Amino acid sequence: MIFRTLLLLLLASLGAPLGAWAETPPTPVAIAIHAGAGTIQRENLDAEKEAEIRAKLEEAVRAGHGVLISGGSALDAVSLAVTLLEDAPYFNAGRGAVFNAEGVNELDASIMDGATLDAGAVAGVHNVRNPVLLARKVMTDSVHVMLIGAGAEAFAREQGIAFEADDYFHTEYRWQQLQKARSRDSARNPDATPDTWLSTVGAVALDANGDLAAATSTGGMTNKRWGRVGDVPVIGAGTYADNDSCAVSATGHGEYFIRATVARDICARVQYTGVSLQAAADQVVMQKLVEMGGSGGIIAVDPQGNISLTFNTPGMYRASMDPKGEVFVGIYSDE
Ligand code: ASP
Repeated sequence: MIFRTLLLLLLASLGAPLGAWAETPPTPVAIAIHAGAGTIQRENLDAEKEAEIRAKLEEAVRAGHGVLISGGSALDAVSLAVTLLEDAPYFNAGRGAVFNAEGVNELDASIMDGATLDAGAVAGVHNVRNPVLLARKVMTDSVHVMLIGAGAEAFAREQGIAFEADDYFHTEYRWQQLQKARSRDSARNPDATPDTWLSTVGAVALDANGDLAAATSTGGMTNKRWGRVGDVPVIGAGTYADNDSCAVSATGHGEYFIRATVARDICARVQYTGVSLQAAADQVVMQKLVEMGGSGGIIAVDPQGNISLTFNTPGMYRASMDPKGEVFVGIYSDE
């Protein structure tokens, strides 16, 4: 903050307009978002839906970038981007969340501040409009890191977090996915095919103070049972941020991402072995996870503003804005 104030004073003394950061601030800022990885193929996505999804990804990444170029924090940027993706019906988080085996939407989310290593997470919550905002409240207004189920919901009410009725979360597409998953179960073939459930959302950002942040939000896995919780709210698995290395948000088959501690492993490799962000992401996502049999991907950013969008699936909904302010939006491996 002090750095930014000094910079603004310097710009003012040089006669530069204070809105001079409009596109490229003097210190690098960067943001990346994802809305899930999986068997996303052109033939399964009609042109109209694809255009809507691309527009939503671009809207969310531009909104987060807007926070950064006006001097806002990486935490605010990732919170806003994830909130917009949670509010969209297309992705498996917030409004578009998948249904569990009881036909209920059960939501997980987390957020981490790379400057302080503070983190907040919620798991198995119902009817919370924006679980990422609840995770942030856990980080800032409780002495805990992770709250689950009814306790997390009671905390949300105390904190004035918005709730929505069941029908807000009811999308026909997700309901049909549950029916298909149920019929697979009854056919004694319970293995969910990943394409039916991989579309968690997340964001990572670097702000003008040099602070990193990451956030991730999901409905988990279609037809999940027994209070199943995936990697998303597990700090170090689905989400991690540390100013000394990088910020990561993951999407994929959560059980593998937990066992591989994907997000922390990428940052640890950057920090302790000195490899580049992209090399670390490749080692973990394209080698380690592949050898384990885990499918999915990550988005990551480092303190220099380098961005990695790395996935071992045919596609990943993703978007980024780099330190030059260049926008990228992609869905398939060939974009
Ligand atoms: N990682 C999430 C989970 O396992 C699913 C996803 O990324 O779509 O809950």
